[in-house]
Amino acid sequence: MCSREDWHWTYGTAGRDHGRMRLPVFDDVLAARDLLSSRLPATPMWSYPVLDEAAGTPVFVKHENVQPTGAFKVRGGLTLLASMTPEQRRRGLVTYSTGNHAQSIAYACAEYDAPCTVVMPESASEEKIRATRGFGARVLLRGADMAGAQQAAEELAGEFLVVSPGDTPELLAGVGTAYLEIFEARADLDAVVVPVGSGTGAAAACLVAAALAPRCRVIAVQSAASPAAHDSWVAGDTVVRPNRTVVEGLATGRGFDLPQQVLRKHLAEFRLVSDEQIRAAQRVLATHAHTLAEGAGAAALAAVLAAPDDFAGQRVAVVCTGGNAPKFEIADLA
Ligand SMILES: *Cc1c(COP(=O)(O)O)cnc(C)c1O
Repeated sequence: MCSREDWHWTYGTAGRDHGRMRLPVFDDVLAARDLLSSRLPATPMWSYPVLDEAAGTPVFVKHENVQPTGAFKVRGGLTLLASMTPEQRRRGLVTYSTGNHAQSIAYACAEYDAPCTVVMPESASEEKIRATRGFGARVLLRGADMAGAQQAAEELAGEFLVVSPGDTPELLAGVGTAYLEIFEARADLDAVVVPVGSGTGAAAACLVAAALAPRCRVIAVQSAASPAAHDSWVAGDTVVRPNRTVVEGLATGRGFDLPQQVLRKHLAEFRLVSDEQIRAAQRVLATHAHTLAEGAGAAALAAVLAAPDDFAGQRVAVVCTGGNAPKFEIADLA
């Protein structure tokens, strides 16, 4: 992927400088699977008759909520650490995140014995701070929002390697392994629906679908309250947008260049759903699929339930990307 000498520069400049960086390709996803094979088993994908009935079409739920960190991102974190040299691991990493990316990098650093610092905005949830510290990371609370946390993380670039959650090719290649599992299980899917924050998951889905299931449409979904990735895709350029969703995994205020480049080439559709539709889909997963999803993990199903006519008669995979729902959301599911 990128030359290792460029590591500090490339990641430290948080996406401003990857003109020099090759976009990930399908073979990188295959290589990531080899790197992950001894550390993560494949996750299940199930369908549920009552869910099919509610959706009006066969729906397959890919269960990334059962990963050891509760979200799909750990595939990327472990791939990144596996790709680093022993010297880079000794030096350690710093990243910025509100939650699941933090846990992914913390978990991967613990597996590979690398020092890990995570900068979170001061508003980060108690549960996610505790979970990240639980994996052995040092957590610093800095800044009112993600941009503030990013800035504080980049100030540590002299000390540690800075990992951008969206513009790091190894993360994109690693999360692509979920889509290898999906298309190897069901080559006959008509659509796979993927929730988007930075867009690495959807971009990876595009790479794998293009290679294994070119007939299958990849459909991205974001909250209408935080449409930066959607609007970036529509504009053909990365844009900044208001970031008002309460759905943590989807909460980003800007487009990320690396995933956007892939999405521009391959993505079939990009849909927006409301936070209320996402909450409703979270309840349906609880009652119809024995599944505790966080909001972001229910967004793909929300898009299907929001437009049943568009999906009628099609075989649709929805990725339940994560299960790290905060306490107040769990209480509200009943
Ligand atoms: C990060 C995250 C997403 C969005 O993934 P991107 O690769 O950033 O687009 C979706 N769901 C969950 C649970 C997440 O943690």
